Amino acid sequence: MSVATIRTPAEFESRLQSYLFERSEEGRAVRVGEKEVSEQAAIVARYADLFSRAQLDGLREAEERADGDERERLYRLRKTCEAGLVTAELAERDDALENAILRARVSFRGEELPLRTAQARLAVLEAYGDREELGDLYATASAEFNDERLELLRVSHELEGELSGEPDAVRRNEQEKGISLAELEQALASASDAATEAWRRMRTRWFERLLGPERDEVPNSSHVAYMRRLSPLDWIYTRERGVEVCVASLRALGFDLANDQNIRLDLDDRPQKSPRACVIASDPPQVVHLITRAQGGLHDYQAFLHEAGHALHYAGCDPSLPYTFRRLSRDHALTEIYSYICEAISREPAWHAEHFGLADAEAAENAEATTFLEALLYRRYTAKLRFELEFWSRFDADGGTADGYEERLTAATGIRYRSDAYLADMDAGFYSADYLRAWIRAAQLRSHLVEEIGDDWWRRPETGERLRALFAEGTRPTSEEIAARLGFDPLDTRPLLAELTQH
Ligand SMILES: [Zn+2]
Repeated sequence: MSVATIRTPAEFESRLQSYLFERSEEGRAVRVGEKEVSEQAAIVARYADLFSRAQLDGLREAEERADGDERERLYRLRKTCEAGLVTAELAERDDALENAILRARVSFRGEELPLRTAQARLAVLEAYGDREELGDLYATASAEFNDERLELLRVSHELEGELSGEPDAVRRNEQEKGISLAELEQALASASDAATEAWRRMRTRWFERLLGPERDEVPNSSHVAYMRRLSPLDWIYTRERGVEVCVASLRALGFDLANDQNIRLDLDDRPQKSPRACVIASDPPQVVHLITRAQGGLHDYQAFLHEAGHALHYAGCDPSLPYTFRRLSRDHALTEIYSYICEAISREPAWHAEHFGLADAEAAENAEATTFLEALLYRRYTAKLRFELEFWSRFDADGGTADGYEERLTAATGIRYRSDAYLADMDAGFYSADYLRAWIRAAQLRSHLVEEIGDDWWRRPETGERLRALFAEGTRPTSEEIAARLGFDPLDTRPLLAELTQH
């Protein structure tokens, strides 16, 4: 180890910008299937001087002397430095795991499929039995990596505990997010319970429509991607029209996505491209990638609108903000509000009528299907958060087990989730809680827009103007601050409940 250089916060922030740019671009290349080998460790090694305990102490001292926005900026730089130390420790093993997953294949009907292709294929297989078979092969192959996933979780948990001075994973995440996860979980569970009757009605109807009469009483999660496409209706929501319809929907709000110099669209199909759409904000506002892998079906439209919300947020932030407030956040709860509100356009019955030429009754029926999907995902994430809280609360005692994963998710959704999927299904840093906060907040925002602008908020430029003002603030505000501006308590789930029960 060389003698550590300690940079001033401004120098640290500036070099961090190059580091995160390179890491983001490398992550993008692998994720979209342009590169078959992940080489994050080489980048991390090149920037090793950025992340040292001495640098961490330097940032902490500067933070203690500051107040207001400056203190928040320094806090975020310090936490990024902490995360960088963890990454440096784990980069080689992370790469090794990622590369092993990229190399893995499953044999299905005489074809050797990479895991991501298998995952993508599951969404489009017509026959119920075929999805069961491929889903099983995929889940079994993915679970082979569980030992390594668990080991990586353990090492990063211990290191984060040591560096932050907070060994308890739940408390550590609560401090960073600035909320109580237990209170959040309670508010979510009550809303979920209150919506159970409406959920059961929708579930019976849409399981029948989407999976047919041959389905099991409790179908397994192999069918979820197929349901999310509304596959039996994919002749309406075609692959060909996806981009055009979504771009037109956003244009109605005053956003010109196709000609936005800051947003780079990657819509191509490659075998190793992850089927999960995403935005990679390599250097906001100027370099923001919007990545999707279209397969036809409603899900293309929802995923595109969702990711467009993130892209417009990052590409729309005020370039004069400090880098920290354009790129770094304590969590993802803020940006997910903007993706959710754009995705919510696809739940408006009149959107289905306007863009797909459907009669009102059919448009309303298909919009109900989107509410069914929304409720399904909401219930799944609420159960996931509950499981993750339990998982981390007992982690130091039992080393991390799947106990409760299958039971909780299956009870909440009526879909069987395999116990051994618990690690592949876990995103770092309680991301599930960020999604769930955004669920509450986007419903509050929608109800605010309906009140201020009208029922057709989703096709009015006034909505775009309001969103543009929020985007300009970058990553600075918290999700809870947005609630206050909308006039809601952060845990007020009434607007969400109204959406889930369609009242
Ligand atoms: Zn998102």
